Amino acid sequence: MLDLREGFLTTRLDVLLNWARSNSLMPMPMGLACCAIEMMAFAGPKYDVARFGSEAMRFSPRQADLMIVAGWCSYKMAHAIRRVWDQMPDPKWCIAMGACASTGGMHRCYGVVQGVDNFLPVDVYIPGCPPRPEAVLHALMDIQEKIRNEYSVALDYAKGEPRPPAPPAR
Ligand code: SF4
Repeated sequence: MLDLREGFLTTRLDVLLNWARSNSLMPMPMGLACCAIEMMAFAGPKYDVARFGSEAMRFSPRQADLMIVAGWCSYKMAHAIRRVWDQMPDPKWCIAMGACASTGGMHRCYGVVQGVDNFLPVDVYIPGCPPRPEAVLHALMDIQEKIRNEYSVALDYAKGEPRPPAPPAR
């Protein structure tokens, strides 16, 4: 949307906002089990997440807009996570990192939630046990892409364009 011809720089406000949001995501690390070790590597200097503007991990939900759930989740913990999620300001996004967070993984038992999407609106799932830090970077880029398209769709809808299809029921 940037036009450099004739010396003018033009854009739309929603594109500018999306660009700023997508390049300044502040993750809330919700490390629950072994996947959290790889999440720590993702935040370390080797993988340089500062390239994406997301090096500032936030431990206060009021300062975070991207929750990364890493590891299997017990029913007791689910209530605490949901409470933290509710305290994060909108707009916000969620990544389920690893097989356990996405589906319960190998923990097929009564005490473990079979996927955090039972109580959180997950935007991106990362497969693997555990996923490598590169996979977390890829998920972050997927979230960025989603944000860059998000409000444009909303504006098109406001202008009378057809409503985008609803996500499939789970
Ligand atoms: Fe641990 Fe594997 Fe489950 Fe991650 S997916 S929490 S590494 S068992």
